[in-house]
Amino acid sequence: MKDSNCIFCKIANGEIPSTTLYEDKDFRVILDLGPATRGHALLIPKEHYKDLFDLDDETGAKVLLKAKRIASRIKTALGADGFNLVQNNGEAAGQTVFHFHMHLIPRYRDDHAGIHWKPGKTTPEEMEEVKRLIDHQ
Ligand code: AMP
Ligand code: ZN
Repeated sequence: MKDSNCIFCKIANGEIPSTTLYEDKDFRVILDLGPATRGHALLIPKEHYKDLFDLDDETGAKVLLKAKRIASRIKTALGADGFNLVQNNGEAAGQTVFHFHMHLIPRYRDDHAGIHWKPGKTTPEEMEEVKRLIDHQ
């Protein structure tokens, strides 16, 4: 299904031009317009799924394989020192475009891209409680 109000539906299906690195019947990979680093790309399915939880299993199973292949190409071509795959779900997690996409972000030593979090604190009791809640869902 496509959503006529969705910019990534339009980009993925070629109605809006983009700098495309890869395309097949299921996906398009484009360069991000606001790159975290040089070569930051987005893997976008052509069908509309708003996030990970909405994604169908068949497409979901293909995502990591595609991400791996394109990430390898980007890393080699641009001489990256490392690589992040980032995938945001929901406003609270930083998602701004509500059509599933995977960020492919090449990393360079000292690039200061700032993709990190501050380690928090927990306790064994808290960890047990979290595990209990997830196990009993
Ligand atoms: P997220 O915050 O995970 O939803 O990521 C959305 C990403 O899409 C951001 O990195 C934006 O820079 C990028 N973006 C938004 N519109 C476009 C566009 N028209 N072409 C390329 N990238 C875009
Ligand atoms: Zn869409």
